[in-house]
Amino acid sequence: MAAKVFLKRNRKKRLEQGHPWVYQSEIGRVEGAPKPGDIVEVVNHSGHFLAKGTINPNSQIAVRVLTYNPAEEIDDAFFVRRVRDAWEYRQRMLEDTNACRVLYGEADFLPGVVVDKFADVLVIQILSLGMEVRREQLVRALVQVLRPKGIYERSDVPVRELEGLEQRTGLVWGEALREVEIVENGLRYIVDIVEGQKTGFFFDQRENRAAIAPLMTGWGASRGIALQPVAEDGEPLSRLGKGEENVRPLLDGQGKPVLKPVDKRGKVIKNPFWDGAEVLECFSHTGSFALNACKYGAKKVTCLDISEHAIETAKRNVTMNGYLHRVDFVVANAFDYLREQVQKGNSWDVVILDPPAFAKTKAAVEGACRGYKDINLNGMKLVRDGGFLVTASCSYHMRPELFREVIQDAAFDAKKILRLVHWSGAGKDHPEILGVEEGHYLKFAIFEVRSRR
Ligand code: SAH
Repeated sequence: MAAKVFLKRNRKKRLEQGHPWVYQSEIGRVEGAPKPGDIVEVVNHSGHFLAKGTINPNSQIAVRVLTYNPAEEIDDAFFVRRVRDAWEYRQRMLEDTNACRVLYGEADFLPGVVVDKFADVLVIQILSLGMEVRREQLVRALVQVLRPKGIYERSDVPVRELEGLEQRTGLVWGEALREVEIVENGLRYIVDIVEGQKTGFFFDQRENRAAIAPLMTGWGASRGIALQPVAEDGEPLSRLGKGEENVRPLLDGQGKPVLKPVDKRGKVIKNPFWDGAEVLECFSHTGSFALNACKYGAKKVTCLDISEHAIETAKRNVTMNGYLHRVDFVVANAFDYLREQVQKGNSWDVVILDPPAFAKTKAAVEGACRGYKDINLNGMKLVRDGGFLVTASCSYHMRPELFREVIQDAAFDAKKILRLVHWSGAGKDHPEILGVEEGHYLKFAIFEVRSRR
């Protein structure tokens, strides 16, 4: 018989609202003597069944819910069902499942475990004691459903300590090369599963990276470049002198005049990306936004990160996709770089900011606000009138309303009017359970920036 965890009468009905955690403070009494990691039944104060989950008396999160069905056994078949459900959902929702988050813990009803898929290698992160003691079952289910070549563990995260677990990394099953090539949005990346940040790659911005597509072209006119008919010798017709009025335009196969980009001085522009955006990407890590920018037609991208390793990774990815001639790399602190560029009077059509979480705790929110304001203030100052600021925050503690307030505050100081043209969160392989605030961490926005002077 599983032990019974009786919840207090006067607790908030969070569990019934979809939240899969029971805090120590919500527990009235425990009937039986469960060992850490055991399956327990969660019941309300009068003994009515609510859920089954794993218990960890040494964590603030005492119980993590695995099922709301009293008859469901937590056996091998349970793990296979959970993994299969999660995988089928990704196959339904994503165009390409070569690389994606296959399992997102609580949001896939398997609390305390994250699984990312990098081509035929899986990277797992185990975050709770309940999962730690069932790791063999989990791995068996992953092998059965996903048939990977190898499974590598990246449980090198401090939150494990809150569960009384040590950090751990290493090969768990099969074989895994240190570097794996993946495809996302049709772009190729080399992912370092051993040393890369977190599990090696951030899938949560997949759809957001693609969302920059419409910003990447349509800038030629702002630089005085227009498509014009040309003569047989390739010179624009507009440049013809006296007596040359009868020169005929160059025609294409269908008999239509061939149009070429011509600048204000009448010179034909050779750069095929003449209509593309000039983009500044700060906090680039793998260079993912730079790659998408190039794919969608950017003319020039400056790719910046404070970490040399990150910039090397970005450079390799950019080279592999054939975009090296369109990308510059900078190793610098974004805070300083942005400020310096404002002082120098430089500007871009699109500025992209995808910083790490500035607020890792509630107490750090105030400082984080200053950080977000600083980079967004200078970031928007660097955007040419009518250009775009692409900005994100992945701090859970930075609530969406607060993030927008901070941006607005920055706009006020920068004398800019911002027009919100896109607002979203994490992608479809990071679903959110309604009622689980913790799952709602990523904010992603695209603002059109206009001057108020
Ligand atoms: N856009 C990336 C994710 C960014 S993660 C992607 O899609 O993969 C945050 C990155 O910011 C890290 O690579 C980190 O090295 C970098 N970083 C952290 N602090 C920084 C700073 N002050 N200036 C510039 N880069 C910084």
